[in-house]
Formats: sequence, C-alpha cells, structure tokens
Amino acid sequence: MKPIDILSEYWGYTSFRPMQEKIVETALQDRDVLAILPTGGGKSVCFQVPAMMKDGIALVITPLIALMKDQVQNLKDRGIKALAVYAGMNRREVDLALNNAAYGDFKFLYLSPERLGTQLFQSYLQVMNISYIVVDEAHCISQWGYDFRPDYLQIGKLREMTGAPVIALTATATPEVADDIMEKLRFKEKNLLKSGFERPNLSYIVRRCEDKTGQLLGICNGVKGSGIVYVRSRQKTEETAAMLQAQGISASFYHAGLTHLVRTSRQAEWKSGKIRIMVCTNAFGMGIDKPDVRFVVHLDVPDSPEAYFQEAGRAGRDGNSSYAVLIWNAVDIRRLNQIEAVTFPTLEYIEDIYHKVHAFFDIAYGQGKGRQLRFDIAEFCSRFRLSRAPVFYAMRYLEREGHWTFSEDLEVPTRVRIIVERDELYNVEFDDPALPGLLESLMRKCEGIFSFTVPVDEEFFSEKCGVTVPQLRQMLYKLSLQHIIRYVPGERSDVLFLHNERLAEGNVGLSPQRYKMLKETAHRRMAAMVDYVSGNDICRSRYLLEYFGQKETVDCGKCDVCRSKASSSAVSRSSSSVEATADALKKFISSLPEGRYSLKQVNDEFGSPSAGWSPDYLAILREMIDSGEVPPFDY
Ligand code: ADP
Ligand code: MG
Repeated sequence: MKPIDILSEYWGYTSFRPMQEKIVETALQDRDVLAILPTGGGKSVCFQVPAMMKDGIALVITPLIALMKDQVQNLKDRGIKALAVYAGMNRREVDLALNNAAYGDFKFLYLSPERLGTQLFQSYLQVMNISYIVVDEAHCISQWGYDFRPDYLQIGKLREMTGAPVIALTATATPEVADDIMEKLRFKEKNLLKSGFERPNLSYIVRRCEDKTGQLLGICNGVKGSGIVYVRSRQKTEETAAMLQAQGISASFYHAGLTHLVRTSRQAEWKSGKIRIMVCTNAFGMGIDKPDVRFVVHLDVPDSPEAYFQEAGRAGRDGNSSYAVLIWNAVDIRRLNQIEAVTFPTLEYIEDIYHKVHAFFDIAYGQGKGRQLRFDIAEFCSRFRLSRAPVFYAMRYLEREGHWTFSEDLEVPTRVRIIVERDELYNVEFDDPALPGLLESLMRKCEGIFSFTVPVDEEFFSEKCGVTVPQLRQMLYKLSLQHIIRYVPGERSDVLFLHNERLAEGNVGLSPQRYKMLKETAHRRMAAMVDYVSGNDICRSRYLLEYFGQKETVDCGKCDVCRSKASSSAVSRSSSSVEATADALKKFISSLPEGRYSLKQVNDEFGSPSAGWSPDYLAILREMIDSGEVPPFDY
C-alpha cells in the first residue's frame, strides 16, 4: 500500500496537504525529520501514516495529557490500536499498558515525557519493536523555545538507545530553536521541512482604543459566524460573556476552573453553533478543531507572538475570509510589565516553595522520588499564608527545572477489583436484577479484574447497562457493600509527580544564569508583542512571519496596516472619490434584500473603470466591514 492509500483507508481523506506527503516520504526512508507546520496544518497525519506502514510500535512523546487522550481515542475510532501512559496512572496500570505495548500488537504508544526515565519503562524498552520516535510539540526540548520542558531532554538518550528514526513536529520554531531541536534530538543529519506560515484568508487587525467593549460589540455585530474572544482572567471571561448576552449576542465562557463536564459540553455547543461566541482564557483551544471560526478577538495582549499566532490562527481554518483582531491600549503595556514580575518570582522565593511543598507532604531530605501526590494549591497557600499567583509560577519554574511535573486537573478514573472467586459469584443473590449483568460485562471487558484494581470506563458501562453514570456508581457502590468488589470512585484533582529525592537546603541547584536567561527570553517575547501592537508601518502578517524566521514575505494587503496604506494612497489620488465610493457602496448594499450581498455583485457594480468609482473600492469595503458600517459579504 502507498501512503495515499493508508490516508484514504483510515482517515478518509482524498489527498495530502502540501508538505505532508514530503514529510511522510522522508520518514519512510528512515531519515530523521523535523516538520514545522502551523497549528491545524495536519501534523498528526505526518507521523501516523508512516507508522501504519512500518512494523512495530511508534512511541509518541507529547506533553499534554488531554490531547494525548483525544488522539488515542481518535485512533481507536479508526480501528487502530493505540494506548497511552501518563502522570496520574498508578504503577500497576502503567505496567499493564507497557506490557500491552510490548506484546500486544499496538501501533502507537503515547507517553508523557517524564515517563522516559523510569525503570519500568526502560525495562520494557528492551523488548519493544519501535518503528519511530515521534516528538510532538518538539520545541519543548529547546531551552530557547517558549515552553521548555527538561524531561524532553531524555529523548536524546532514548534515540541513542533504540536507533529508531525520529519524526519531530512543532508549530512554532524560530531558526535557532529549529537547529537546537535537531541537535538535542541527535539527528543523524539536519533535515527540516517547513511549510509557509502565511494565512492568506486571515486579516490581522490591531486597534488601539479605550472603549474595548464598544469595539468588541462592533465586531460581533459586524462579522457573521462563530468567534472566539480571548481574555486573561477567568473572571473577565464571565463578565464579558454576560455583557455580550445582555446585548442579545449568543455567547458563553470557558476557563480551566469549570468542571470537566461543563467544559466538554460548552465546547460541543460552540462547535455545533448553538453558542456563537466563546469568551475564554488560553485554556480554550488546545485540540479544538472548528473549521469555520470567522473571528478571533484578543481583548488583552498575549505574552508572546508564539502564543498570539496560535490563538489567532484558530480563525479561518476552512480557508474562508476571517479576522484576527487585537484590541489594546496603554493599560495593557503596564499590565504586561507587572505580569513579568509575577511570572518570575525571585530564586530565593522559588527555592522556598520547593521546601514548603515537601514539608506540606512531610517528605524528608533524600526522600520522595517517584511519589504522586494530590496537590491542592489553595490549601497549600492558606497553610503557609501565600498568595496563589507567585506560588503557581514558582511551581511551574521548578517543573521546568525537572524537579517535578505538576498536572492540573487530572482525571483519576474509577477503579474496581472483584474480590470474590469467579465460582462464588454464581452463588450470590442480588436484590437488583441489573447487577449480574454489570458484573458480567466487567469480567468480559476488564482483564485482570480478579487480581487487580483496574480502571473502569464509566461511560462505557453505563451505556452497556442502559443506566446513567450516577446510577452506575450507585450499582458499583451496592456491589462494594455486598463485599463483591473493591470500589475506588474516580475524582479530579491536581497531581504533583516528584522526579527526585528532596534536596537539602541551599542545594536545590537553581542556576542564576539559567534564571537570567529564561527571564530575558520571556522579556524579548513580550517586547516583540509590544512591537507588534504599537507598530503601524510593517504589514502585520509580515511581522509575524519574519519573527518566525520566514525569509521571503510579502505584504498581505488585508491587515490594518496594508489597508490604511492602500486607502491613504487612494485618498491622495482622489479623496472625494473615496468618500463618494463609500457612500455608493453603503447605498448599494442596503438596497439589496436583507442587506445580503456577494463580492461578485460588488465587483459587477463597481469594478468597471467606466463606472468611475475609486479603484480601491474593495479596500474601502473591507474598511467599512471592519468598522461595522456595512455587514460582511456572503461567500
Ligand atoms: P496540527 O497537529 O498540525 O495542529 P492536526 O493534525 O490536529 O493539526 O490536523 C488538523 C485538522 O486537519 C484535523 O481535523 C485533521 O483531520 C485535518 N487534516 C489533516 N490532514 C488532512 C488532509 N490531508 N486532508 C484533509 N484534512 C486533513
Ligand atoms: Mg497536533
């Protein structure tokens, strides 16, 4: 079978996108490859197709647990055997999964990076037949990257031990970061495949104004279709959504403080179009894949061009015209400076948090390696009378330095073990007739349930038994009261996974040079973002592309900078004709039924030179759509 056959058989796509095919072919020649494609560019296919064509199992290293679960489910839905190992699973579950990976004919094993160093994984590594080492979010291996994770450095060793070819993928890499990635992953030869990052259908607009709310309303009313509004704080998502609702606009909010259930259902409602606009923090977006987002508005300035490009890039994946609008004023710049101070607490403070966290769990010096702890940051802060934000960033800093992994909001699944012998089960009398059926499906579905407490997929079994999840829990509870099963209900919590023994006071090894370097890099990113918003003579698209190291760039013709250049040159040619054209456009559009119109209609009416309208009638139209003076055109 050829790659294209695999693509159509398992994914149902008729063709590769530009660059995907080249990446797949390179990987099939067993050459290491670093692929840089924008978010939504289709990176998964680049490693999934070659892995399907080779013997053995692909190790996929990726830092985000939620995405990992999504992808595994996605592969399973396509009939492909895949599994995952991540923080939050206990040793027994990890053992079972790795055993399956080694002997069970699986094609993909997703791993979070901190697993790589564990003895358990190392012992299974010997017997696994590895097709590829896939490194998703590969910029995490570079300390120049904006999201460095020390655990990623272990992948270099893994590469050396197995000799399997590497497929590394990322959406953001400046040239230095790309070089660093290939070096850290010990590429046999440098091999970078990068697609252009132009988004020809996306208009970048920057607006400086005091009345952000009014500006936002103008956009929501002026642009049809779905939108995302990014703000910095959870509270602001709620306030802004309420404000939009009060104006009769369909909107809701999303942030990491909502329960998993609420988040999933909101995301689904937005995806289906039931909710038109989602106001959210940056917790929203990872793994969402809605093609017809017409606008992404930022009401606060993000920390880095990397973050901005990813978030703005969620607009217009379907290729239709869309807007990425950033609204800012002087207050934002002040706030960015304050944020910088909070995100980098002093090294003394960070080390102090290191010890307080260990003390919180009564962990002595030289102890603690490998422990997984439920960590309630609010409780921690109140015990030591600390405020939350600096504690959080200190924890993140220590994570970046490899001391631990701090996973917020992990789902710990319900677990069950059957504690009576199989034969005895037939003699038990049940008052609830549904219980024997449940037990039977548990036995059938969960291998090892007589010997170990195994995780139980509650949704699966509730469907199987025709009950709701709470009813299923009730049934499990009854069985545990009858001493037939051991029942550990699932829950959600933040989990801290300690990588090392606790180090002695003054010996935590936080390097001042590294601290300085990280802080400076973060500062440079922020400064680039300030440049982006305050600049008004470089095309927005070019600015971003050049920031990402793209050499050949052209003016996009549709960002606010390009448009104001176009309209000012039109003005100098004939200012009266611009005004007259604008008036005529407005009249023409309102004369059409319901104000609906297409570009073709406008072209027919205004395009012919003999009609005498300004040749910039399209730029004028865009400006008017943008300011909400006229509705956008139909496609
Ligand atoms: P990335 O990881 O680069 O952000 P994904 O791998 O998640 O992107 O893919 C983004 C979307 O594009 C997915 O919905 C995927 O199914 C779709 N996609 C990828 N490749 C193709 C293709 N060749 N044809 C059509 N759709 C594709
Ligand atoms: Mg991806």
